[in-house]
Amino acid sequence: MSLLALEQVHFGFSRGTKVLRDVSLSVTQGQNLGIVGESGSGKSTLLRLLLGLAAPQTGRVLSAGQPLDRSTMQAHRRFVQPVFQDPYTSLDPRMTVRQILTEPLRALGLAADPEAEVLRALSAVRLLPEAADRRPRDFSGGQRQRIAIARALIARPKVLLADEPVSALDLSTRASLIDLFAALSQQLTLVLVSHDLAVIAALCPSLVVMEQGRIVETGPTRQILDAPAHAYTRRLLASLPRLPR
Ligand code: ADP
Ligand code: MG
Repeated sequence: MSLLALEQVHFGFSRGTKVLRDVSLSVTQGQNLGIVGESGSGKSTLLRLLLGLAAPQTGRVLSAGQPLDRSTMQAHRRFVQPVFQDPYTSLDPRMTVRQILTEPLRALGLAADPEAEVLRALSAVRLLPEAADRRPRDFSGGQRQRIAIARALIARPKVLLADEPVSALDLSTRASLIDLFAALSQQLTLVLVSHDLAVIAALCPSLVVMEQGRIVETGPTRQILDAPAHAYTRRLLASLPRLPR
């Protein structure tokens, strides 16, 4: 089943500029999708369109098979949730973790029992219940990213859109978060932007390669990493770090 899709999407921030050109892709349930490409190739913009934070100039965004519009946006906001790169700037320092986690429930009008949902989300990211009463400054970078993931999980989304979610973290923390994303992949589907091919290979069976706003290659990750079809992909793969795992 296609959870999310882009159909022949074109997008630019102002008239005349093209940031995404004729982009089509589909996110299949249970099939994590990795996105790689040079800086500026349009990866974050693509995620913003999938989130419904920006709309294409031409083409369509589909959410659970339905075109994304005013009538489907409410359901879409529960259906997909983002995780961003920097856990130091993405969490409000004045709020407790409980406030951070219940805020989306309030915004989306969900949950009769917010406290139960907070405990469930903390447990899903392997943080202790006591974390709820503390503030972001009490936590390490990796723990903060777990809080950001818990905030994304609280509305029980079907898709997590993660934009370089481990790039700001040190290597050992990165490994434990990759394990967490692998565990979460049992219940939801991940769309993961990363420049770290080891992370992509560990989590995503499907891969999209972007260059200057276009998808230049797509298919099974293993196949593309073993035998990239395009010269651009070969250059990109040669320039990206491959961490031993
Ligand atoms: P990536 O995530 O692959 O590095 P982005 O999607 O962030 O790429 O950016 C793609 C292109 O769009 C870049 O040329 C970037 O400068 C431009 N861009 C991104 N955000 C904006 C914005 N808010 N206004 C104008 N141009 C933007
Ligand atoms: Mg980006």
